[in-house]
Amino acid sequence: MTQKKHIEKKALFDVQKIRKDFPILLRTMNGKPLIYFDNGATTQKPNQVIDAIVKYYTGQNANIHRGVHRLSQDVTVEYENARVTIQKHIGAKHEHEIIFTRGTTESINFVATAFGKKFVNAGDEIIVSEMEHHSNILPWQQLCEEKNAVLKVIPITDSGELLIDEYKKLLSEKTKLVAIVHVSNTLGTVNPVKDIVSIAHAKNIPVLVDGAQSIPHLKVDMQDLDADFYCFSGHKMYAPTGVGILYGKEAWLKKLPNYQVGGGTIKTVSFDKTEYEGSPLRFEAGTPNIEGGIGLAVALDYINAFGLENIAAYEHELLTYATEKLSAIEDLRIIGTAKEKASVISFVVDGIHPLDIGMLLDAQGIAVRTGHHCTQPLVAHYQIPGTVRASFSFYNTKEEIDVFVNAMMKSIQRIRK
Ligand code: PLP
Repeated sequence: MTQKKHIEKKALFDVQKIRKDFPILLRTMNGKPLIYFDNGATTQKPNQVIDAIVKYYTGQNANIHRGVHRLSQDVTVEYENARVTIQKHIGAKHEHEIIFTRGTTESINFVATAFGKKFVNAGDEIIVSEMEHHSNILPWQQLCEEKNAVLKVIPITDSGELLIDEYKKLLSEKTKLVAIVHVSNTLGTVNPVKDIVSIAHAKNIPVLVDGAQSIPHLKVDMQDLDADFYCFSGHKMYAPTGVGILYGKEAWLKKLPNYQVGGGTIKTVSFDKTEYEGSPLRFEAGTPNIEGGIGLAVALDYINAFGLENIAAYEHELLTYATEKLSAIEDLRIIGTAKEKASVISFVVDGIHPLDIGMLLDAQGIAVRTGHHCTQPLVAHYQIPGTVRASFSFYNTKEEIDVFVNAMMKSIQRIRK
């Protein structure tokens, strides 16, 4: 990068200016300025996304893919353009590899149901890891119960990294699919998914990647990762709730049976026989979250204007800063110390329940997540009731971390008194 380009990128990334795009960050909570450190649960929305939704309902609302009238046709074009924006963002080969869903959870359920129906039989095995979100455990657990198949689990180290040698040992001719999280929502660990995929592919085993926590922070490229399925949610990357994506390689989508059927999925219907559309329409039954899909593309344009590399670098600075400051607090233990981490920091304080800390922080205007973070098997590994989790976005600041660390110290003192 030339010196000039570097300066231009830096100049683009003005956190105080970015914060002005997020109206909610101006509000107070319990009489204090809101400090929002629960971005792993959901991110706040910039004006650009909010405006797109208002614009949709005030001037564009119509159903898609079915109207001859202009309103319907225009919004169909906008929705399909959103699909192309998403395709380009993740480097998918074809736009029909991008399927709109309600979010990561639905995307995973989709694959577990459709893939499971056709490809999983009694005695087969599915591999997940110990650090999965419940959304990437339960659909597979349920499938295994239904099909008399077996769920195998890749163990982790205490620092929160996958034991890759153990993973290799689990793979066998019985393995039908590997389902793995890209970035852990509880530990922040960035898993080596590219290696995990290539190890599975060497044995012709497909891999689904849960990208719920990676998409807002990392640049992902489907050609480079080579994952067979990749899932993510709009609301964790500055887009509206209720919309998400299932990316599936064309070759797999062609082989999958229908997930849900209904309006929008067919070419012709009669009581004798129904002829279905190809992907993606075959997989998108019923009226979708139209404004959500459009909002998702607007959110991607928004973050791409800053550059995901710049966002990742800044968020890493926040993570390093917070890790240093929190580590200095007596009796505080960070859970998840992997070498590669995204901007998530989980911790416990000896003798204090995470919930008590969460409540005292809330009283000081600071929103963090407490509990098991939908990863109960993972917190069981650490033999803890849960953690306090601060997860940062590129609109957060070091000053907010200072306030948070002071509030932590005050809270601990108050509980210990
Ligand atoms: N996977 C991971 C790693 C997550 O962090 C989450 C949500 O926190 C999910 C899956 C489920 O996402 P959603 O609730 O948007 O479907």
